[in-house]
Amino acid sequence: MELPFAEPYKIKVVEPLRPSTPQERIQWIQDARYNLFKLRSEQVFIDLLTDSGTGAMSHHQWSEMMLGDESYAGSASYFKLKGVIEDLLDIPYFVPTHQGRAAENLLFSATTGQGDLIPGNAHFDTTKGHIEFRRATPVDCTIDEASDTTLYHPFKGNIDLNKLEEVFKSNPAEKIPLCMITITCNTSGGQPVSMQNIREVSALCKKYTIPVFFDAARFAENAYFIKTREKEYAGHSIREIVLEMFSYVDGATMSGKKDAIVNMGGFLACRDKELFDKISMFCILYEGYLTYGGLAGRDLAAVAQGLLEGCEFNYLESRIGQVAYLGHLLKDYGIPCQLPFGGHAVFVDAKKMLPHIPKEEYQAQTLAIELYLEGGVRGVEIGTLLADRDPKTRKNRYPSLELLRLAIPRRVYTSNHMDYVAACLGNIYERRNKITKGFRIIKEAPIMRHFTLELERVL
Ligand SMILES: *Cc1c(COP(=O)(O)O)cnc(C)c1O
Repeated sequence: MELPFAEPYKIKVVEPLRPSTPQERIQWIQDARYNLFKLRSEQVFIDLLTDSGTGAMSHHQWSEMMLGDESYAGSASYFKLKGVIEDLLDIPYFVPTHQGRAAENLLFSATTGQGDLIPGNAHFDTTKGHIEFRRATPVDCTIDEASDTTLYHPFKGNIDLNKLEEVFKSNPAEKIPLCMITITCNTSGGQPVSMQNIREVSALCKKYTIPVFFDAARFAENAYFIKTREKEYAGHSIREIVLEMFSYVDGATMSGKKDAIVNMGGFLACRDKELFDKISMFCILYEGYLTYGGLAGRDLAAVAQGLLEGCEFNYLESRIGQVAYLGHLLKDYGIPCQLPFGGHAVFVDAKKMLPHIPKEEYQAQTLAIELYLEGGVRGVEIGTLLADRDPKTRKNRYPSLELLRLAIPRRVYTSNHMDYVAACLGNIYERRNKITKGFRIIKEAPIMRHFTLELERVL
């Protein structure tokens, strides 16, 4: 018999979880105005809101925290991180940042202004926010296959080269400060980008002299998919694949809260000295001096160690295996999910799951609330609420997909937790025809509304 994968770690510290009653949850979610971000964490039994900053650090990382050097300038922990970034990514310049969006802030502050275009593959919400805040426009060039949740495509994060070239042809190069490839593509379902696509996008960008950057939050998971789905890379190590991936780009923004398995941290790396000098100015202004960039020395050290652990094959196999384990359980219940399963999360297709709810009543949010009421499980809406209003017309933007994302924190939950989550959704699936009303917005912010908006039930 072929042996199944098992977690390549054991548990040294545990944190108690308290199950709640259905009555408690009805009250709590109402008090939270049906916004799952407004729940207190004690009101959640299994928290799949995000895999961002929610991972369990290893004892090596905790040891690094003790070794952290808190010198204001030139900290040893900074040089440790610099060494790892050079070894792993082979990019010469970097500044630490307090998280991924801070790296985006520095990059777009240095490069992007009103009227500019940033083509890419379904930009992450904070990326989109930073671009639109500067009155520039993110242009989504993801392949069409990505929006068909039932279709198997090994690299649904890929960029459509024709769409991208169309943007380059129909706009002057000065209006396109950079192209952003998100690896893996969160918004379209944690879907990877193939090495071939990265190579081709990079070549096309070079032809039009447009710099290309990675949004690299999940670069290691992307490398795992390249290894397991792109034939010619089967024999390559994750480290070799990562090195080649980054060889095609001019720089990267990184949220350490993902594949560096830390609770806080990030960085911005680039090859161009002139750009680095510009970024440095913004770093000092927004984040802090260049060798700490908004982080404590101990955080830098934990990021350095976490980047290395995040690239270990056995870890990636168990992490992505756990996501697929949950996905297969849901599939067995008949629940419509985005296929293939993504790197960090399972995405339930809420349009198919709750077909009686009109899109104006937020299908994915309705499903997220049902899941919380059913078993105290917190997922997150990736749909109309997240898509925000059109900045010009102020009308709701209805994306082609309404997804409930179940993001799995790294090294935190067991298979039993996954069984529990799947059973909750199985129960909802059985009573899905009785769910016919959704929600309406009673309060929202002008940008990135999903974090703070308030809802009420449509009666
Ligand atoms: C999380 C994430 C970000 C933003 O990073 P933060 O650390 O949350 O600010 C950007 N892009 C992608 C793809 C992400 O997953």
